[in-house]
Amino acid sequence: MAAVYGLRTLEQGSGLWNARFREELAPALLSGVAAHAISHLPSPAASGAGLMLGALGHAGGWPIPRGGSASIAAALADDIRAHGGVIHTGTPINRLEQLPAARATLLDVAPRGLLGMAGDALPTHYRRALERFRYGNGSCKVDFILSGPVPWQAAGLSDAGTVHVGGTRAELARSENEVSAGRHPERPYVLVAQPSRFDPSRAPVGRHILWTYCHVPSGSTKDMTSQVVAQLERFAPGFRDLVVESHVITAAELAEYNRNYIGGDFSAGVMDVRGLVQRPVVSPVPWRTPLLGVYLCSSSTPPGPGVTGMPGMHAAKYALKDVFRLPVPDLGLS
Ligand SMILES: Cc1cc2nc3c(=O)[nH]c(=O)nc-3n(C[C@H](O)[C@H](O)[C@H](O)COP(=O)(O)OP(=O)(O)OC[C@H]3O[C@@H](n4cnc5c(N)ncnc54)[C@H](O)[C@@H]3O)c2cc1C
Repeated sequence: MAAVYGLRTLEQGSGLWNARFREELAPALLSGVAAHAISHLPSPAASGAGLMLGALGHAGGWPIPRGGSASIAAALADDIRAHGGVIHTGTPINRLEQLPAARATLLDVAPRGLLGMAGDALPTHYRRALERFRYGNGSCKVDFILSGPVPWQAAGLSDAGTVHVGGTRAELARSENEVSAGRHPERPYVLVAQPSRFDPSRAPVGRHILWTYCHVPSGSTKDMTSQVVAQLERFAPGFRDLVVESHVITAAELAEYNRNYIGGDFSAGVMDVRGLVQRPVVSPVPWRTPLLGVYLCSSSTPPGPGVTGMPGMHAAKYALKDVFRLPVPDLGLS
């Protein structure tokens, strides 16, 4: 199975990606998923991520949390409190010394955050590697309040939690490759989530919400609302007339909102082959830093971005093993 995945990844990440297709639909579907990687198309990292995400979609769907993604954070916080933990929020940490003394410290920060907190205490080779760490392109997020559900032209799209808007494989590639080249696409690839179609708690009666974003060059301050609306209007004629209100967060604003999103890159590191292997350093245990008891657990560590909890799980496993000499629980996930 792994061999088939590897072969398909190479094929779909190369100039041969159209070899097995005669029509437009399947390649467009695959490219829409691959484009999540915010990478050049075709490329092995994008096709690898896309095939993995596509397989997950077929195996278990792409669930949307009831009540919104804040309900995931709330559930995790409840679990910490149930185990006697105390949570402090709203305090930016600029130096490690700000934190209370602890045997193990897990930092959910990008390499730049660790450099700021402890750069002078890090060995030169590790500090240089963090300084060289590459961040990817950004996203511009455009959210809508609508007076009705999106009038998709294509049958079935009203029942999809996530919709990739962008047209054919060639159009999707053109859009993503414009971003790779540092330009803003006029017809962007737009990721759309329509949670209020499935969860009535997300909008008052008679209203719908729509979350969208498109990829833009790193650090972009451009408001992409008109390009996003034009793309939605193209595939859902009448969309524009349903917009009650829209709200934009540019890539530069995303970076201010979350220090890990450097330049608006919410993957916290380029998603190409080198960026997957060097996350943030090439090491069998990349979550471990050279500082005793200090671990990185953000998406700048393997397996990378997404609400998976996996970087945190790996960092916690090594903290238990290294610092507390405890047997590592087999969670059946690694
Ligand atoms: C618009 C958007 C849509 C997305 N859609 C999806 C999706 O559908 N599915 C999916 O799986 N993923 C999605 N993601 C990606 C996902 O949110 C991230 O990959 C994931 O949250 C990364 O987890 P993390 O723990 O590494 O960092 P984060 O979730 O970013 O958490 C890090 C936290 O640490 C805080 N922090 C950083 N530095 C400091 C400091 N110095 N002091 C104090 N606090 C600090 C940050 O403010 C943040 O609260 C999306 C992201 C965005 C922006």
